[in-house]
Parts: sequence; C-alpha cells; structure tokens
Amino acid sequence: MTHITRRAVLGAAVGTAASGLAPRTVFANPTSYELKPFSVADGIWMIEGSRDYFSRENGGAIVNCALIDTDIGILIVDSGPSKKYGEALLDVARGLNGRGAAGVMITHHHPDHFLGNQVFADNLIYALPETRALAASEGDGFADNMYRLLGDWMRGTEPLPPNKDITSSFLTIGGRKLKTLPLAGHTGADLAILDEKTGTLIAGDLAFLDRAPTTPHADLAMWRDALTDMSQQQSSSIIPGHGPIDRTGTSLTQTRAYLDWLEATLKRSAGEGLDMVEIMDLPIPEEFSGMGSMPQEFYRSVAHLYPDIERTVMPLSQ
Ligand SMILES: [Zn+2]
Repeated sequence: MTHITRRAVLGAAVGTAASGLAPRTVFANPTSYELKPFSVADGIWMIEGSRDYFSRENGGAIVNCALIDTDIGILIVDSGPSKKYGEALLDVARGLNGRGAAGVMITHHHPDHFLGNQVFADNLIYALPETRALAASEGDGFADNMYRLLGDWMRGTEPLPPNKDITSSFLTIGGRKLKTLPLAGHTGADLAILDEKTGTLIAGDLAFLDRAPTTPHADLAMWRDALTDMSQQQSSSIIPGHGPIDRTGTSLTQTRAYLDWLEATLKRSAGEGLDMVEIMDLPIPEEFSGMGSMPQEFYRSVAHLYPDIERTVMPLSQ
C-alpha cells in the first residue's frame, strides 16, 4: 500500500512535464479565499499560506505574500496562485491603506507566486529579467496543471508575465527604499528583497520554514550560495516563501540542512544502486519528518533530482 502511494506521487511528479495537454476543466464548486494579513514590522504585513501541497481544500493558497506600505499604495510581493486570489489580495491592499496596489514584485516564476498577476495588469509588475522570460515560456503549462489540481479556484486565470525588469540593486517605490538581491538556486532566478526601513528580508522560496522545500527547478549549489548571501544581510526578520515568520534566521539554516541531507541521501543511494522507490522507503530524520508536506515533498524531490545525480555517481557495484 505504501508503495502504491509512493508510486502515485512519483508518477504525478514526472507527469507534470506533459501537463500542457491537460484541458482547463472548471468544476462548479463555490470558492473564496479568506486572506488574513498580519503585521510583521512597521508597514509590512504577511499573508501566510497553507503548509500543505496544492489541493481543492486550500485553493492553492500555499504561498506567503508580503504587503509593503508606501506613499502611493501597497506594494505586493507575489500575487498568488490564481486570478481569484489576486482579486482577494487587491481587496486586502485597499483595506490596509485605502490606496490599493502601488505595484507588484514577483520573487520567481512558480505558479503559486505569480498567477494572480492579471489582476494587476495596469500596475508595474517587477521581477528579475530571467523570471519574466521563464514566466512567459512556462506559464501556460503551469496554468494547465493548476486547473487540473484546483478546478474552479482557477476560473478565469490566465498567466501574465511580469512587465518590468529589475536591473538595479535598489528600488525606491512610493518613498520606500528596497534592496533587491538577484539570486538563484530554487529556480533559475530568485529575487530576495530587503526593506531598508525595518530590515525585513523577503526571501521568496529560497527560504522555507517548517515546510519542506520544493525542488522541481533547483540547482542545489547555487541555492546554498544564495542562502549564504541572505545570511550576510542585516535583516531583523525573514518572511520565507512558505512557513511562519522567522525572527531568528532559522529558515536559512533549516533550508540549508534539508538540502544538504537531501543531496547526501541521493548521492549515497546512487552509490548503492538504489531505485527511486527504495529511496522513498528510507527513514527521514526527525528534524525533517515533521515539516509540512512531508514525506510527499521528499518523494517529489527524489523524482526531480535523482535521475541527474544517478548519472553522475558511479554505483559501488553493478
Ligand atoms: Zn517556488
């Protein structure tokens, strides 16, 4: 029974590559997001997502979004998984300072982070240049997959890539100065943002806390470099891409420890000639087994990462 479950996860993870063929079926179940912003610093709010995987129960609202107060409205960091979520986010922004959205920043091109963009089509939607390119090339496939997973929550959603490249190290929006860190490793381009006023670091999916990191587009060496870079910033708190607000830097150390364990486990398994299902049967250390979306996220990572690692590690015996 366990193996059937693990094979199902494996099949689903591998199958996403062909998801562009899936019809955008919309199911008739009424849905609404209840987004609850809470203050994490002076003029900064966070909306915390579910620590579970995408489901019709959570509507795909698994992402953390940040909202930053400026003189011209609320700057929104990451627009969520759907048009409906983007609309709810805009309502939240209007409620916070009465001016609505001052613009949007997208940390990276994963669908839970940018498919709310179309609601902000008339705003500047900032991102790293490569994120814009990746959102343009992969957005349709992501959206098809999300329709399949989430049904009616996705009604009317069309992927809209960011429209404004971030090419400088600092941006001042509505009087609020932000340091922009062009990093990579979780994907080919990952933006982290440091608010100069409060020292709040918005890490996107370079940092997870108490929720297993996702790796479909990961470069683990680059990801570690990005964690080092973020740890050297003068930050007072960290908003991770998934999981609770981090006041101690634990999201950076925990993410690094998980990636180190994941890579070591896969390399050792390749040396021992294990197949994917055998790896999924291995014990998971206690410090990681209680994270949100475990063990399923580990199974997905095995499917994403093992083929490449297996090719580069010579088995001990044939
Ligand atoms: Zn991501």
